[in-house]
Amino acid sequence: MHHFFVNESDIDTINREIRLTGDNYNHLKNVLRVHPGEVVLISDGTGTDYECEVTEIREEAVLLHIHFQEEIHELPAEIYLFQGLPKQDKMELIIQKAVELGAHAIVPLSTKNTVVKLDDKRADKKTGRWQAIAEAAAKQSKRSIIPEVLPIMKWKDAMEMVREFDLAMIPYENAHDIKKTMEELKKLPNHGKIGVFIGPEGGFTEQEIADAEQHGVTPVTLGKRILRTETAAIASMSILMLTLESMGNGEDHKETPET
Ligand code: SAH
Repeated sequence: MHHFFVNESDIDTINREIRLTGDNYNHLKNVLRVHPGEVVLISDGTGTDYECEVTEIREEAVLLHIHFQEEIHELPAEIYLFQGLPKQDKMELIIQKAVELGAHAIVPLSTKNTVVKLDDKRADKKTGRWQAIAEAAAKQSKRSIIPEVLPIMKWKDAMEMVREFDLAMIPYENAHDIKKTMEELKKLPNHGKIGVFIGPEGGFTEQEIADAEQHGVTPVTLGKRILRTETAAIASMSILMLTLESMGNGEDHKETPET
């Protein structure tokens, strides 16, 4: 089924009608060549999805009728993945997988041990490419939002940012107390913001870990093996995703039928 992200203002929930113009109209009519009767999935970009049927293709607009509002595909809390800039193309893999696993946003992080140094122009180009990867992954995995890839952030700014988070943790290979990891998971809030910090290949410095702790970010272990940065990111996201998912409202695929 084709999946579209539109503006909330294009959706008339009272009359159960969606009217698409401009780029969306062009894409539906000229690229996808949809026909009346065809069913498509529309997301309003803020977390709500609608299954719709194309009813009319006009000169300047495509009209759709809302069949029903889909179950929410988003996790109950927003996960921000702060990812120490890895080498080569690894960031692309990490973004794709993090989006599939429900990340709300990805924050490329420059730390003491990041090898990659990007000047502003190259950094902007990278961020653009990373955002496109997030968008493709969001569509593929039926997310209801397109997770944002933020511009590369400095450690200091990230520490400021997480001050107002509901919970933040920093997987650290020299943390050994698995009970502490499990306790942190039990504390996960079912709303608000959760931060998770993954080091680059060179890992975090002791000083960074101490600084993180001072800012309320808890060091946790991911087990007794050393994981590569991309594995640590994917493992952390999987653990957080399942833990949060199991805290949801317990309802599975429920749809609001047409009244
Ligand atoms: N250079 C370091 C490892 C860095 S691994 C070393 O060889 O000792 C990259 C990142 O993955 C780390 O900064 C950490 O955030 C995470 N990580 C890897 N293995 C981990 C583990 N067993 N427990 C917690 N975090 C881990």
